[in-house]
Amino acid sequence: MKITIFGTGYVGLVTGTCLADVGHDVMCMDVDANKIARLRDGEIPIYEPGLESLVRDNVASGRLRFTTDATEAVAFGTLQFIAVGTPPDEDGSADLQYVLAVADTIGEHMQEYKVIVDKSTVPVGTADRVNEAVGKAIARRGETLGFDVCSNPEFLKEGAAIEDFTFGARIVIGTDSERVKELMRECYAPYNRQHEKLMFMDVRAAELTKYAANAMLATKISFMNEVANLAERLGADVEQVRHGIGSDPRIGYQFIYPGCGYGGSCFPKDVQALARSASDVDYHAELLTAVEAVNQRQKQTLFTKLSQAFDGDLAGKTIALWGLSFKPNTDDMRDAPSRVLMEAVWNAGGRIQAFDPEAMKECRRLYGERDDLTLVADRIQAVKGADALVICTEWKEFRTVDFDWVKGNLATPVIVDGRNLYDPQAVKRAGLLYFAVGRGDSM
Ligand code: NAD
Repeated sequence: MKITIFGTGYVGLVTGTCLADVGHDVMCMDVDANKIARLRDGEIPIYEPGLESLVRDNVASGRLRFTTDATEAVAFGTLQFIAVGTPPDEDGSADLQYVLAVADTIGEHMQEYKVIVDKSTVPVGTADRVNEAVGKAIARRGETLGFDVCSNPEFLKEGAAIEDFTFGARIVIGTDSERVKELMRECYAPYNRQHEKLMFMDVRAAELTKYAANAMLATKISFMNEVANLAERLGADVEQVRHGIGSDPRIGYQFIYPGCGYGGSCFPKDVQALARSASDVDYHAELLTAVEAVNQRQKQTLFTKLSQAFDGDLAGKTIALWGLSFKPNTDDMRDAPSRVLMEAVWNAGGRIQAFDPEAMKECRRLYGERDDLTLVADRIQAVKGADALVICTEWKEFRTVDFDWVKGNLATPVIVDGRNLYDPQAVKRAGLLYFAVGRGDSM
């Protein structure tokens, strides 16, 4: 099948590459000429495990190509995927300008029937707006052409995007058109062999499914952080509680890790956008508002603990920071808890000495050169000469630590662990003070 993808970010590039890898002919279009030039040179602008070689292989096979030319992109695929960003607007709602710009482009250039597939995360009712935008653009040219719009939300997660796209639990498609169903079935047939994964539903249900899924996961995290904060005050260890409740199959172990709050490009904006959609229809989404509020508060906890460890005076202190990305296996720092921590330390007059396996380039792009930020080559360098160590991201390489060495190299024996990676007893035995999340015993 010939497929066009608009947007070569985390979702667009992974979707395009994976679809090419199963034999489709794919053209990826982006308005960012620099990104397209780099992709054409075989350079991947984002870090995503396994993506670089997959892009190279499929470009070499001739099944994957990149363009900035809208005319060429629209002419190419029968399926036209929209995978552009939907960042939060000032009022928390999803900003649809990029999605609607693509709809307009498709309407302006199409010469024959197309299926416009919305893969971006968009509020309920967006398919109608895309429909309208495409129709208007065609009408401006004085033409009448057939097209359909369907919703196909993406559930991949950064850091495991290729695996999620390939082995995802379900493929949700919102449409009531038999023709669209047939084309989408053909598109996803290679992923639908072992068992039926395709779920056809109404467009509005598909659009809401994506928000409901992210809001549910964010709720689990905020719930557990609430329990952690309670555990801390009641003198219980939340890690024991986590095991206690996770063993119940109705609850499960996934997404109940307490920590320093969720970040990334999806949970914060999607929870807010869903709450905003609710208020647009005069419904106050009490739970969603609380999920977001708990998360905002949770992102402050590391700084509060750190500050308390230094009696509120962090001026002139150097803080070693392990982990900048919002989670492991990505370079994405959008809404990362590390940013809240760093900015609070800087405001308090402290310095940051940080290491992250993948996100240091992104950190430099975000904050530029500044005297109170040093990015170092490895986790050891980060600790050397620092006053305390803070862990913001649970990268694998941070899980095992020689605490005696850390004690010997920190000016003050303080570890603030935003991911509960260590055994409090082992840390204490080395003579370190250990501040984790919801572990009453470690305080
Ligand atoms: P991104 O910001 O990484 O990439 C978006 C890309 O779209 C950019 O390269 C940008 O230049 C391009 N773009 C903007 N306007 C364009 C236009 N008119 N034509 C062509 N390209 C254009 O975004 P992302 O993280 O890939 O997210 C895309 C969508 O998918 C969002 O709605 C997001 O909520 C959703 N989503 C993201 C994830 C994730 O983990 N990142 C997972 C599931 C769903």
